[in-house]
Amino acid sequence: MALPTDEQNAERMRLLVDFTSQSLGSDHPSPFGSSIYDVTTEEVLAEAFDTVMRDCDPTSHAEVNVIRKATKKSQRLSLRGCVLYSTCEPCPMCMSACIWAELDAVVYGAATMEDANRYWPQSSDMTPQELIDRVRPGLSCTLVPHVERSLCQQLFLRCDEVRTKRLLQLPPNRGESLI
Ligand SMILES: [Zn+2]
Repeated sequence: MALPTDEQNAERMRLLVDFTSQSLGSDHPSPFGSSIYDVTTEEVLAEAFDTVMRDCDPTSHAEVNVIRKATKKSQRLSLRGCVLYSTCEPCPMCMSACIWAELDAVVYGAATMEDANRYWPQSSDMTPQELIDRVRPGLSCTLVPHVERSLCQQLFLRCDEVRTKRLLQLPPNRGESLI
């Protein structure tokens, strides 16, 4: 199945950055957002923020949340024929979820270790490609890195500003001097 074009990926990432920006006005601002599109219909199936702090759930990352929404909505376990977009390179938990959901491709903006790690110290540095390299024969997932990366990087800085200004809790395990 043909994957989206570079132009489509960039456009969808910009829409995702706009969507994720909405969380900055909420009680739980987050720079992490994710969306899923059907490759054939070119329609968005679902969008989600990370809700880790809101739900007090370390597994409620944006990618896990959006996969749950998309499978529930479409009533299917496999998201073959779909592409997931994320404002940040997926962590090992999320990339594993993408593999289990059989997504055709994952398109991401910011980098985990160079960008997100400054905002929220990461628990593992295993890369999405390392996980993809070990999927069972017949399964595959294409990675499209750093689409609109600078726009996604700005989300982290804006989120920090909002949290500091509104005296909201900062992500755990983080020194004030990191940003
Ligand atoms: Zn994750």
